[in-house]
Amino acid sequence: MGIGEITRRSFLAGAVTAGTCAVLGATGCSSPKGGKQDSAASDDDWAQRLNVNIAAVLPGNTKEKVDIAQTKDCDVVVVGAGCSGTNTAVRAAEKGLRVILLEKTETIGGASLRSSGPTAPNSKYEAAAGVKTDTDKIIDTWVADSHWRVDAAAIRQLVTTAGEAVNWMSDNGWNFVYTKMFTKLPDYDTREPLFRAMLKKYVEPKGEVLTSTTAKHLIAGDDGSITGVVAVNGDQGIQINAKAVVIATGGYGGNANMVKTAFNFAGVLAGVPQNVGEGLEMSWKAGAQKPQNFGGQMLHQTLARATDAIQSSFDAFPAKYPMILTYIPHLLNVGSSGARFRSEALVLSPVPAANSSVYQGSFHYVIVSKGIMDVLEKQGLKGLGVTVSPGLPPAYKPNFELGDPWTNIAGVFDKMVETGTGFKGDTAESLAQAAGMDASVFSKQLSDYEGFCTSGYDKQFGKSPEYLKALGSGPYYAIIAEENSLGSWGGLLTNTDYQVLDDSRIPLKGLYAVGNEAGTNLYNDTYVGSGYAMANTITSGYICGAKLGKALS
Ligand SMILES: Cc1cc2nc3c(=O)[nH]c(=O)nc-3n(C[C@H](O)[C@H](O)[C@H](O)COP(=O)(O)OP(=O)(O)OC[C@H]3O[C@@H](n4cnc5c(N)ncnc54)[C@H](O)[C@@H]3O)c2cc1C
Repeated sequence: MGIGEITRRSFLAGAVTAGTCAVLGATGCSSPKGGKQDSAASDDDWAQRLNVNIAAVLPGNTKEKVDIAQTKDCDVVVVGAGCSGTNTAVRAAEKGLRVILLEKTETIGGASLRSSGPTAPNSKYEAAAGVKTDTDKIIDTWVADSHWRVDAAAIRQLVTTAGEAVNWMSDNGWNFVYTKMFTKLPDYDTREPLFRAMLKKYVEPKGEVLTSTTAKHLIAGDDGSITGVVAVNGDQGIQINAKAVVIATGGYGGNANMVKTAFNFAGVLAGVPQNVGEGLEMSWKAGAQKPQNFGGQMLHQTLARATDAIQSSFDAFPAKYPMILTYIPHLLNVGSSGARFRSEALVLSPVPAANSSVYQGSFHYVIVSKGIMDVLEKQGLKGLGVTVSPGLPPAYKPNFELGDPWTNIAGVFDKMVETGTGFKGDTAESLAQAAGMDASVFSKQLSDYEGFCTSGYDKQFGKSPEYLKALGSGPYYAIIAEENSLGSWGGLLTNTDYQVLDDSRIPLKGLYAVGNEAGTNLYNDTYVGSGYAMANTITSGYICGAKLGKALS
C-alpha cells in the first residue's frame, strides 16, 4: 500500500521534522563567553560534542514520507529496544503474544548498555546481602520530596516491584551484583548478548525483531484508537498493524532544539544521541497529553569545557587537571555574575552537584589561584587535603594518585585560557573582567570567602571547615564547568497500566509507554537519580509486558 492510500484521518503525520532538523545542523546561538549565560549552545557545537555521525544512526530519518513496501500484523508492536522496550517485548511474548520490536540502530539495549545499575529494593541480591529495605519509607520520602505532585501509586508500584523485576532478569541469565549504592548490572559487554538471548527465546519464535528500523508515525482507527505504526528501514516503509503500540524510545536528549525549548539551554549530552523525541512527537500528535512538568533532564556529572580543547596538547593526567578540579570541594565555585551559589561540598555527589549548578545557569566557574596551584604542583591533591579520589565519569578518569604532583600546571591552565575554555586575571577585578563577571560582585565574594577560610566558618553556605582553603593572591584562573545530561526524563503521562493518557487523563486506546518517557508521573520537575531510572526501565517493561499479556491474550 502506498502512503497516499492511508487516509488523512487514519494517519497521524509529521513526527520527526523538528528533531531531525535540530541534530542535522540548524543554526543556533553561541556558547557561553564573556560571562553571558547560554540560552543555548550552538547546534554545530552540539553535533560535534556528540561525536557521532548522526545521519548514520538514524536510518530513514531524513525522509518525511515513505512508500509502504510491506505490511505486518502482530498483537503488540514495541518501538525502541532499550531495556524498557526489550523487557516489554520479552514479557509480552512470554505471556503468549506475537510481538514485533522495532529499533532504529543495530544495537539492542540503548542506554542500559552504559549504565551502572538499578536500585532494586528487596531483590534476591539484597536478601542475600542481608538487606531489608523499608519501601514505605522510601515511597513516603520520595512523594513528599516531590511536593506530592507525582503519582504515588505509580511510585509505589515501581519501588515495590523493582526487586521482583530484577529477579526475573536474573532468571533470564542476568547476574547482578549488590553494592551499597545500587545493584550493579553484569559486565558491559555481556549485556547486549543477554538481551538478544531473551529475544531469541521468547519474541522470535512467533514475532520479529527489526533493527535499523525507525518508527515514524502512529496509525489511528476511525474511533481514534491506535492501531499500528509506520516505520522505515532505509528507503522501505513498513506498516505494522497491532492491537497495542508501546512507545519505548527513551526521550529527546539527543535533540538539541527540543532540549533547549524544554529546558532553556542544551547542555552536554552523555546519553544516547539517537533519542530525538520521535516517540513523544508521534504520541502528542495522537492526542497524548504534553505534561505540565515536561522538560526534566537526567543531569549527572560535571565536565570542564577545557577537556576536549586541550587533550591533544597534554598527556591524559594533565589534560584532566581542569576537570578534576570541578570535583574538588575545597575550591570556590561561582556563577556567571561572580556570586557563589552553593556549598562546594555538593560536588561530592553528582546529581546534587549537577542540579545546583544548572539552577543558576548553563555553566559555572571553578576559581583557582596561584597559591592553590603551587600546592598542587608540589603535593598534588593530597596537599589540598583531598582524601577521596574525585568521582569523574570512568571515560574521563586518568590514572593518578592523590599525592602525584601536578607538573606543568601553569602550562595547562595557560593553554586552557588560550583555547578560550577558561579565563585568567592577575587580580580579582581583572579575572572578573576577562570572564564577564560583575567585578564588584566577584571581588566582594572572593574577599568574603577568604574571610570564611580564615575564621573556619562559612557564613554563606555552611561548608565544612575541612574544605575551606584560602586562595590568597593572584593570578587567578576561572575554569568553565558544565553539566552532563544522561538524557531526558518524562514527556508522556501514563497510568499504572502504562496506558498513555490524553488531556482529560483518559487512556488513549491502544497506546502505551515505558521507560524514560513514562517517567512523568514519577518525578515532579526533574529526575533526581539514585538508580531509579534503570529500576523504572527494567520494571516498567516487566509490568507492562505482563499487563498486555493479560489484556490481549
Ligand atoms: C552513561 C549513562 C549512565 C547511566 N547510569 C545509570 C545508572 O547507573 N543507574 C540508573 O538508574 N540509570 C542510569 N542511566 C539512565 C538509564 O540508563 C536510562 O534511564 C535507561 O536505560 C533508559 O531506558 P529506556 O529504555 O527508556 O531508553 P533507551 O535505553 O534510551 O532506549 C531507547 C531505544 O529506543 C530507540 N529509538 C529511539 N527512537 C526510535 C524510533 N523512532 N524508532 C525505533 N527505535 C527508536 C533507541 O535507539 C534506543 O535503543 C544512565 C544513562 C547513561 C546514558
